[in-house]
Amino acid sequence: MNTAVPLPPPPPRRFETFLSQDGTHELFDKVAALDLFMHEERPGYLSGLGLEMLGAVRNQVELREKDGTEHEVVMMGSNSYLSLNTHPRVVAASQAACEQYGYGMGSVPLFAGTSHLHRELEKRIAAFYGTEEAILFPCGYSGNVGLIASLCGPGDVVINDAANHASIFDGCKLSGADVKVYIHNNMRHLEKILRGLPETQKGRLVVTDGVFSMDGDVAPLDEIAVLAKRYGARLMIDEAHALGVIGPTGRGTAEQFGLQGKIDVTYGTLSKAPAAVGGYCAGSATLIQYLRYYARSYVFSSSLPAPVVAGLIEVFDLMAKDEAGREALWKNVHYLVSRLKALGFDTGATHSAIVPVIVGDEDKLSGIHRDLRAEGIFTSVVTYPAVRRKECRLRVSLMSTHTRDQLDRTLQALETLGRKYGLIA
Ligand code: PMP
Repeated sequence: MNTAVPLPPPPPRRFETFLSQDGTHELFDKVAALDLFMHEERPGYLSGLGLEMLGAVRNQVELREKDGTEHEVVMMGSNSYLSLNTHPRVVAASQAACEQYGYGMGSVPLFAGTSHLHRELEKRIAAFYGTEEAILFPCGYSGNVGLIASLCGPGDVVINDAANHASIFDGCKLSGADVKVYIHNNMRHLEKILRGLPETQKGRLVVTDGVFSMDGDVAPLDEIAVLAKRYGARLMIDEAHALGVIGPTGRGTAEQFGLQGKIDVTYGTLSKAPAAVGGYCAGSATLIQYLRYYARSYVFSSSLPAPVVAGLIEVFDLMAKDEAGREALWKNVHYLVSRLKALGFDTGATHSAIVPVIVGDEDKLSGIHRDLRAEGIFTSVVTYPAVRRKECRLRVSLMSTHTRDQLDRTLQALETLGRKYGLIA
């Protein structure tokens, strides 16, 4: 009789399996292991990642699938919520700047990388938020990293919402500060953490996204601001997905809660509604001065190209007058979200242009995303590490220029596939 105890089944191989290990493996072992995995068990949802767009990303776009087939889709997966990437005034300004300044700056901001256009954009961003000053970063991701790592260091503490963007967490890691995480939008937990900090730990930063990038819900900034003040912490907000969308005139979450001018550190990216690239921080003149010398992703990284900056000046001109298309966007948001809810989809607590459609099973997610593309609808496909696997989802994003017909086609396809995959009854 065989008395051997059967070995437990090997753990499933997944994204985490191929992370850096503890120094016991040669560095490229994981590289080869991932390649093998891709050949043997490539997860289906990967076929929907990194597809090639064959023209400007508008509400409708031609794309190339991984197998080389090309087809037109309704674009329901772009962060260009206001379609400003193709706005005639923005494009014209960018083209003119390319003629005048060339296509790149070829230098970091503190050397030859600051044109008068860069300063003009910084001033416009400061005026938009009603702050004294603003600073541009070459990238939204690196801006968060540089900002947090310059402001905080060992001995300080950064208190994060669990759903904050990865760049915020990476900035925390690089800073060497203590990192605390509160349950998403849970004020009791935030307060518990703040109350538990040692009296002597004076360097405190509370950071929250304004609109959360995977859920589209909004931070309770009024309550966060009260708690930060009560416990002597500075408050930083990342307005990446709120800019141009949230608040009575699109000035973001602080405007929504009547807190304009009361946030210590207003951060944002130029890559969502502005549809370009880059990051910015708006705040007091002394804070911005500090960042110009200590935020290493500013000091040691080359400036945004002038054609991008010139386009962004037009973007902020439109946004400052609230003429960038916010109302049309919200009409589309209300229409799509109300109908998805009526159909029985789980769209979380969205209150923005980001609409999650929770699937919760990666195989189903792969199938539904593939079938949607076959129906001529493109959304983003999201799972770990961006969200927990059991909350994997389609990330539908709306644009001000979506037509009613495009939204109805999306709804029709989602209804059919939602039934096929058992997401709705
Ligand atoms: N912050 C938030 C909240 C984001 O969603 C993103 C973009 N995914 C970033 C920062 C990074 O911005 P970028 O893509 O412009 O580098």
